[in-house]
Amino acid sequence: MSRLALFGGTPVVRMDEFDTTWPIVTDGDIQVVTDVLRRGAFTSLSRHEEHVAALEEEYARYVGSAAGVAVANGTAALHLALTAGGVGPGDEVIVPAFTFMASALAVLHAQAVPVFADVGARTFNLNARRVEERITPRTRAILCVHLHGLPADMAELRAIADRRGLLLIEDAAQAHGAEYRGRRVGSLGDVAATSFHVSKNLPTCGEGGMITTDRPDVARRARLLRQFGDALRPDGQLAHVAQLAGWNYKMNVIQAAFVRNKLPGLPADTAARQRNLTEFSRRLAQLPGVICPEVPDDRTHAFHFFRFRLDPRPAGFDLPPGKFRRAVHRALLAEGAFARQYQVLPLPAHPVFRSAAVQRDEYPVTRAILEDSLTLQRGVIRPDAAPLLDRYFDAFSKVWEHLDDVVREAQTSRGASADAERVVAAAGVERE
Ligand SMILES: *Cc1c(COP(=O)(O)O)cnc(C)c1O
Repeated sequence: MSRLALFGGTPVVRMDEFDTTWPIVTDGDIQVVTDVLRRGAFTSLSRHEEHVAALEEEYARYVGSAAGVAVANGTAALHLALTAGGVGPGDEVIVPAFTFMASALAVLHAQAVPVFADVGARTFNLNARRVEERITPRTRAILCVHLHGLPADMAELRAIADRRGLLLIEDAAQAHGAEYRGRRVGSLGDVAATSFHVSKNLPTCGEGGMITTDRPDVARRARLLRQFGDALRPDGQLAHVAQLAGWNYKMNVIQAAFVRNKLPGLPADTAARQRNLTEFSRRLAQLPGVICPEVPDDRTHAFHFFRFRLDPRPAGFDLPPGKFRRAVHRALLAEGAFARQYQVLPLPAHPVFRSAAVQRDEYPVTRAILEDSLTLQRGVIRPDAAPLLDRYFDAFSKVWEHLDDVVREAQTSRGASADAERVVAAAGVERE
């Protein structure tokens, strides 16, 4: 048995042997971007602009929605989905306690009130029962997030929304290409928002986002709100008359051209992620104490993130889950396996939401997930990462062979988690 890297042994994973750049920029991507620069049409309102309108049509067709409205980023898309859907000042919107902060910030941007609900322990998505408990006469919408790439429980949320007369909004920023009962995310709610941020599974070379909807009234309002509330002349130019209190959320043509060039490859990329991470999950789940994400039979996971939980009890240890997670994290990082913690707080505990949100409890499931889980992200799980994931599995196996030593070391040393974060920073991987 070889010595743990934590104690001076040789690391299992040699990151310099793998390309973990994300996004992958091809010659074709560079070509379409330079063509935009040569043509000189730079925003969705530029004369002879072709990429933004084409992306709207192609992406809406891809998800199976009637209309797409391209915008500057995913947070703007969420803001417009809410306001175009009719959410306004004082309305309450139910949001998961566990998601990226933009999901709930967009509710504040709409001058509405986020009301947080706890999530499922294995799916990390909104728990429909917790949602139901949060509904009041002021509730206007449910904003569900397909977190890390797994679709939320849409049938249950749809039933609640219909019964209570609520708008159902999808945050699909992490789930490009994921399917629920045979339909792609982005076509499952009344309106959906997604992001093409450079980190996402369908990335642009910067920032971008899109709304998709079957409702013509929502699409029409989103189009107005995207550029100053101006209804535009028949030739697509500004009429210079503000009809609504809109913003400037127009998409840049370079970003649109880049995403358009990536979209045809998304189905194959998604299938590759699914193959790689289903296999990785299957192997990892055999290590006692590793709990892999659950993928219910009626949906597919797009694996934007791979989050696993760690339970010390099946591994034979009686120590707090957070301590076990920190011990394993340190040992994995030393072996060259770059797992990351990512979020550190439930959304309702962020300073901005402590005063602005409605809170009713401590969100125990969200807190437990944050305490005992780690993630693999971006370049580490990109579509061609199967060989790297094999090495990662070897690193996990090695750590599990020496788990007694790993735990003993954690119980005698201090500041283990700070150490772990320093190792990540020093390695310089996964830069923004
Ligand atoms: C990335 C992300 C957003 C925000 O998208 P931006 O394009 O970065 O504004 C919103 N929600 C979730 C779940 C995300 O992951």
